[in-house]
Amino acid sequence: MTVTLVPPALPARPAGPDPLAVLGVPGEINLDHAASAPCARAAADAVAELLPWYASVHRGAGALSRRCTLAYERARQTVGDFLGARADDHVVFTRNTTDAVNLLARALPAGTTVVTFAGEHHANLLPWPRGSVRLPVPASPAEAVRSLDAALAELRRDARPGLPVLVAVTGASNVTGERWPVAELARAARRHSARILVDAAQLAPHAPVDLAALDVDYLALSGHKLYAPFGAGVLVGRSDWLDAAAPYLAGGGATSHVGAGTHEVRWATGPARHEAGTPNLLGAVALAAVCAALADADRDALHAREQELLIRLRDGLAALPHVVELRTFGPDAPRVGIVSFVVAGRDSAEVAAHLATSHRIGVRDGLFCAHPLARRLLAEAAARSGRRNLPPTALRASIGLGSTTAEVDRLLAALAGLA
Ligand code: PLP
Repeated sequence: MTVTLVPPALPARPAGPDPLAVLGVPGEINLDHAASAPCARAAADAVAELLPWYASVHRGAGALSRRCTLAYERARQTVGDFLGARADDHVVFTRNTTDAVNLLARALPAGTTVVTFAGEHHANLLPWPRGSVRLPVPASPAEAVRSLDAALAELRRDARPGLPVLVAVTGASNVTGERWPVAELARAARRHSARILVDAAQLAPHAPVDLAALDVDYLALSGHKLYAPFGAGVLVGRSDWLDAAAPYLAGGGATSHVGAGTHEVRWATGPARHEAGTPNLLGAVALAAVCAALADADRDALHAREQELLIRLRDGLAALPHVVELRTFGPDAPRVGIVSFVVAGRDSAEVAAHLATSHRIGVRDGLFCAHPLARRLLAEAAARSGRRNLPPTALRASIGLGSTTAEVDRLLAALAGLA
């Protein structure tokens, strides 16, 4: 099969003065924000301002270098402030969430047991060492807390009373959009002297996340899901494990002294220890610009608008007898603007292609890099609906800043046409 890619005609910049205005392709409906969110004006402006002038960060005494070093460190401060980092937390720039979780996995003290749930994105399932505990997908947020509490109590009773334990959970599911009870899970972790990492890749674009207020130890996210370009994410959190660990990458910038002997090296402490190599200044600055714009925005109003669209979308899907929603918790669990579903009797990849080509609507299809969860929810959807003709993969529609009622209605109308 030959695939012809026709590049769409694109506006140069998001329109209007709103820093959170997002770039859209005229005539195309983007309902795939959970994969990568479109660029916000704040990010485009920050990159445009710096792009002709970029120079080496932390590696030069010249005016441009100093300017760029300042911009990079300011970006670190802005992102940390936005996420409620404590004074002694590190804000380490990474490539994305996957990179951030892998960094933490490599920085775990010897003997750490990691506890996750089977509902995680692969980025928060696969990096953890052998011997990690994977709890079954819970049926409700309350069950998640009970199950974690019980697992941690058992771990502490068991062979590992004094060894470190890290709980690694998502803030919001990339499959169902359901929010996980992060504050309660953090309290359960505390009760058993465990630390907790929140994968905020899908939560942060939709809701404020504050490490200190939630009493969470580590948080990971991706800039490209937060209306900034690819290639910049962060790991924010407790400095002690990060400063004690071997550098994530060995190389320039991560050292304070290198001698003539092969192993004569003193590694830097602080974020630099894990940021060897020339950093992604433009990505960091773009991410920080969106964080600053979101910090200044009326988050309650953004939330209310998103929930309005989400309810319209879910109610509309529920009214289509040939569509079945995927969900882990009950239908009324709090969620962000992500919905997965199947169209009975229709292959999900074909439906996605049809929506794109016949209706110019972009959604995602597949198992969403969360295979254990998606497969389980597909089986549960079949049992709940009593339908035998559900496909083996799903569709996902995700909304964000700039999504409109008309776009949601166009998707619903297109799906109604598949009855
Ligand atoms: N965690 C969640 C919940 C996600 O949805 C994703 C991506 O979809 C990731 C982690 C991985 O993000 P990235 O591919 O930017 O590393």
